[in-house]
Amino acid sequence: MADSYYAATAKPSPDHPQLQENIQADLLVIGGGCTGLSAALFAARRGLRVVLLEGGRIAWGASGRNGGQIIPGLRQGPRELVKRHGREEAKRLFALAVSARDLVVDLILQHRINCDLTLTGHLHAVRNGDLDDLRREAEFAAEEMGYPHLAALDQGDLAEELATDHYDCGLLDREGGHFHPLNYALGLARVAVEAGVSIYQNSPVIGLKKNNIIEARTPRGTVTAPLGVLACDALLGHLDPGLAGRIMPIASHVVATAPLRPDQVPVLKNRAISDSYFSVNYYRMTADNRLLFGGGERYFPRKANEIAPIVRKPLEKIFPQLQGVAIERAWGGLVSITTSRLPDIGRKGALFYAQGYSGQGAILSTLAGKVLAEAATGTAGDFDVMAQVRPAAFPGGMALRTPLHVLGMMWYGLRDRL
Ligand SMILES: Cc1cc2nc3c(=O)[nH]c(=O)nc-3n(C[C@H](O)[C@H](O)[C@H](O)COP(=O)(O)OP(=O)(O)OC[C@H]3O[C@@H](n4cnc5c(N)ncnc54)[C@H](O)[C@@H]3O)c2cc1C
Repeated sequence: MADSYYAATAKPSPDHPQLQENIQADLLVIGGGCTGLSAALFAARRGLRVVLLEGGRIAWGASGRNGGQIIPGLRQGPRELVKRHGREEAKRLFALAVSARDLVVDLILQHRINCDLTLTGHLHAVRNGDLDDLRREAEFAAEEMGYPHLAALDQGDLAEELATDHYDCGLLDREGGHFHPLNYALGLARVAVEAGVSIYQNSPVIGLKKNNIIEARTPRGTVTAPLGVLACDALLGHLDPGLAGRIMPIASHVVATAPLRPDQVPVLKNRAISDSYFSVNYYRMTADNRLLFGGGERYFPRKANEIAPIVRKPLEKIFPQLQGVAIERAWGGLVSITTSRLPDIGRKGALFYAQGYSGQGAILSTLAGKVLAEAATGTAGDFDVMAQVRPAAFPGGMALRTPLHVLGMMWYGLRDRL
């Protein structure tokens, strides 16, 4: 993370203390990414005394390292949602998911969070795709979901989008875009503190009792509260093995090039781009004209010096004209996926949780945090919509999920290469 483009361009932000005492709260939030920060903010706005414990530094997890792509909706598109969940449930779920975009944009604008917000659209670029199928998806979204923002692009349209002929069609969502995720999360933390949340950094929860009352132990203090939110996503580990077995962490790697000359810029309309490979490539320009390119998924995180060569391969395959381009920053993080690629949102006694956004959590996490805060304060409508589609756990839980997934990824990785 220290080597990331985001850390190098982070806005100054206030420090938060380490927990050094035993305290009580109405709501304890564990995890200082966007899920936890949002849950804390919206619960405090509803009058609760909220304490947030972060093991490292605010947004040091996925929220401060991701591709910054604002991708409205869920990993399952509108037609797939209807097929799997029925028309009515799919409509409610889709409407709620796409509301994440306006929620985040409103927070940024209302609270003047300086995070390079760019609302130019998100393009899903497809290789060996079916243009008619993308057209049907766009029509279905407009007619059945009331979402008229999708457009199918053919090869001619793509030539005006990207300086490559690597893809043959694409699905544009005009509501998408990109932002600087670390500066967004740091801004969210500032807004949460202004709303009354007490944030403690460098305070990892090393013991969690979940009886009538929740008690979280950190190295130098404890927090007790009647209600809690678990917002640790891929970093949950052994804090709750049952929940951790419901998600699969996958390492994804990102690089930022040196600033490009205008004639080198490969993303012609400044949109966020992700593609159709099983091991997804995602890229966009930064505010200072660098190509920020993510990909190179691996089962385990790589050392800092191994990342640039891994990511350079797909970058140069898609944009051969950038062969040898200087890579100035390289970093990695853990993406958590679920079996259905829908988020895993639920409740275990007095503990609410949200995890497993499957690569689309940059804005969904803020929505999920708000939904958890509402549920914790007695308004469960949106929580029920999301909790109803709870994905199945990975077979074998934490112990077997990785070997089984490695096999699956090898197979799909082979298909990508062929
Ligand atoms: C490399 C990468 C690229 C991505 N790109 C995109 C993208 O372009 N668009 C998109 O929509 N999504 C993307 N994602 C996914 C997105 O970043 C995540 O879904 C989202 O940030 C999850 O937020 P979160 O708050 O739930 O988890 P995190 O941001 O991971 O926060 C969890 C926090 O919990 C803390 N924690 C863990 N255990 C403990 C403990 N025991 N005690 C206290 N604290 C603890 C961690 O330190 C961490 O800060 C990407 C993810 C990665 C890793």
